[in-house]
Amino acid sequence: MRRIGILGGTFDPPHLAHLAAAEAARQDLDLDEVWFVPAGAPPHKRARRVSPKRVRLALLRAALAGTRGFRTRVDEVERRGTSYTVDTLERLNGAHPDVEWWLVIGTDMLADLPNWRRPERVLELAGVAAVPRPGFAARWPRRLRRRRFRVVDMPELSISSTDLRARARRGASIRYLVPLGVERLIRRRKLYGAHSGGKRA
Ligand code: ATP
Ligand code: MG
Repeated sequence: MRRIGILGGTFDPPHLAHLAAAEAARQDLDLDEVWFVPAGAPPHKRARRVSPKRVRLALLRAALAGTRGFRTRVDEVERRGTSYTVDTLERLNGAHPDVEWWLVIGTDMLADLPNWRRPERVLELAGVAAVPRPGFAARWPRRLRRRRFRVVDMPELSISSTDLRARARRGASIRYLVPLGVERLIRRRKLYGAHSGGKRA
């Protein structure tokens, strides 16, 4: 049976903690692959403006270029409207019934799991591989019946897309916090209001 990890997110932009999380989960859970699933219209992020899908897709592809075992999946970006993890998992599981699925999620999202759509069904379809994130305990949410659950061994990294967007906006360097290809794309396309001149080499 193949074991595949699913790392969902907005990836606006993707950064090195996403890659480190995927790699740590791959190693700890002996996954054959990790599929990165960028969200179309993320249900929990309606408040802020998210970059267009094609931009986030280009950034993700740049981030995964040259990696092994990591794949970009367009399942959610190509669907209209809000994407729910449960629907994505149902569809993937229908298409690949021979796969054991593992949701790779940061501990910030773990605490939020009870608020997802049909969390009990999500947990039937996939195990949970929690990745430690500074400020959030790697604890199973009390309101949910505990199922397959693993905490992945990874050093806590205080990298977030939110912080990276702010850095890009003010012209601060994001080098070594994102893959080189992502840095280039942000600079070349002046994403996030990135300054064109100034503080970079
Ligand atoms: P934003 O600040 O826009 O929310 P983000 O950095 O949280 O961006 P997302 O695209 O929201 O990135 O996250 C995708 C997945 O990666 C989530 O499960 C999230 O918990 C996890 N993740 C993101 N950054 C980290 C990190 N530094 N350490 C561990 N997990 C992370
Ligand atoms: Mg986030």
